[in-house]
Amino acid sequence: MNMFSLKDRVALVTGGNGGIGLGMAEGLARAGARVVLSGRDKSKAKSALLALRTHGGDAHFVEADVTDENACRALVASAVEKCGRLDILVNNAGTTVRKRPEDLSAREWHMVIDTNLSAALFCAQAAYPQMKRQGGGKIINIGSMMSLFAAPYAAAYGASKGGIVQLSRSLATAWAPDNIQVNAILPGWIDTTLTRAAREQVPGLHERVLARTPAGRWGEPGDFAGIAVFLASAAADFVTGAAIPVDGGYSIAA
Ligand code: NDP
Repeated sequence: MNMFSLKDRVALVTGGNGGIGLGMAEGLARAGARVVLSGRDKSKAKSALLALRTHGGDAHFVEADVTDENACRALVASAVEKCGRLDILVNNAGTTVRKRPEDLSAREWHMVIDTNLSAALFCAQAAYPQMKRQGGGKIINIGSMMSLFAAPYAAAYGASKGGIVQLSRSLATAWAPDNIQVNAILPGWIDTTLTRAAREQVPGLHERVLARTPAGRWGEPGDFAGIAVFLASAAADFVTGAAIPVDGGYSIAA
């Protein structure tokens, strides 16, 4: 038996149409899962689907804005309708507003919290009855180094990513009896659309990340394929409530 095989499994990856989400989706597809990607941008989704299908995978896209609670529920229902089941939910969609706390508007605060934290709960709530009926499931939530550390420009982002760790632990304790494992991945600094602007706008950021990261490089979306497959597979059946840094050593460097 290949304990990492995801054959006959169905995975839903929010924000899977690009960046880290697509990196994880490619790993899940290579391990045999059928994958449903979600996001707002259809043109990104088109090339993401092409990439997944080159691995021979069965892949679908469902457009959804996860700041809308009802859209989260409809998204999960649509994934189940398309594929007949749901085994793996990856809550990856995320955003940020880089401002000092005194300048953050209520609208910006809610947008970041809704996207990064509330959506993870609403998608998980929608997935729960289906996973329970099937006898188990895997939920993977995406945190950040800002789940551990703080920055003056990341009050809403840091609150959402700190929250994602505690949300994962709460769901893990609640749903362990249903054989549903819930874990968080905490990415270090990864080269994606989200960080490209920061790299350009924040003087010295690129060099500081290189200097602080023992691996001596920025991460890439492909670095998340392995951890996603592990947490989604039978190999991780006794792993739950964990928050695992995937950061080239950033979080343990002095
Ligand atoms: P990207 O910007 O490449 O990806 C973010 C994804 O989230 C996009 O695919 C986007 O889809 C989707 N998304 C954003 N808002 C919404 C929304 N309202 N509704 C639906 N989908 C939405 O960035 P990353 O790949 O870097 O980010 C992925 C996750 O990793 C995020 O949770 C982020 O916080 C986290 N992370 C990233 C780090 C990094 O260094 N890059 C470090 C730590 C954590 P669309 O464009 O279609 O809206």
